Amino acid sequence: MDVIERYLDEVLVANETTNLTRIVSRESAEILHIEDSLSGMKYMDEAPDGPYVDLGTGGGFPGVPLAIKTGRETLLVDSVKKKTAIIQGIVDKLEIENVSTYAGRIEDLGREMPAHFAVATARALSQLPSLMELAAPLLVDGGLLICYKSHLSEEEREHAFSLENKLGLKCIHEDIFTLSDGETTRCMFVMKKFKDPDVKLPRKTGLAQKRPLK
Ligand code: SAH
Repeated sequence: MDVIERYLDEVLVANETTNLTRIVSRESAEILHIEDSLSGMKYMDEAPDGPYVDLGTGGGFPGVPLAIKTGRETLLVDSVKKKTAIIQGIVDKLEIENVSTYAGRIEDLGREMPAHFAVATARALSQLPSLMELAAPLLVDGGLLICYKSHLSEEEREHAFSLENKLGLKCIHEDIFTLSDGETTRCMFVMKKFKDPDVKLPRKTGLAQKRPLK
């Protein structure tokens, strides 16, 4: 059986005792976790060679499917230790050797591993300005930030564009499409690091999400 399918099965079993995902039916998980996660593949291929980080990974999406498909060295980050411990256990059991987990804040990872990752993803984590601020210090020059958004308001979009210069990230793709259930809209917002940020990052832990830059 395909490793991605086996991974999903393990997550759904673990989810019966620990809250990893709201999606509990196998059928909808197939679309909303696997198909959706893999919809980022074409952007992953555009990123420079090098390690990949999934920010706020939760149950390992989109991180694990993309790690398996790309074979990139992958780090799954979540501040909730209980989640990363379960994911690490599943990854070990299935012998997915290119994946490891980091139990901690994205801001702390930014201090520990600055300019280390060639590509970052974030799904259902925060608004674009916060994602840009969290990812900027982690990426190498030319590295990509792939944001999976369900809905993007004009205000959020404009705010993101207004921070491009300050944060050194430029939008290179903005795609909207529907998943195969015919009803789930996915909006992909892909940014490329073109220079170091003008501000010193990470700021104090929590600020990127609580008080986004103007
Ligand atoms: N990406 C997954 C989970 C989304 S929920 C999915 O799409 O299914 C968002 C996750 O991000 C939560 O598990 C939360 O614990 C984590 N998170 C939020 N802010 C964080 C931060 N600053 N550092 C690390 N993890 C964070």
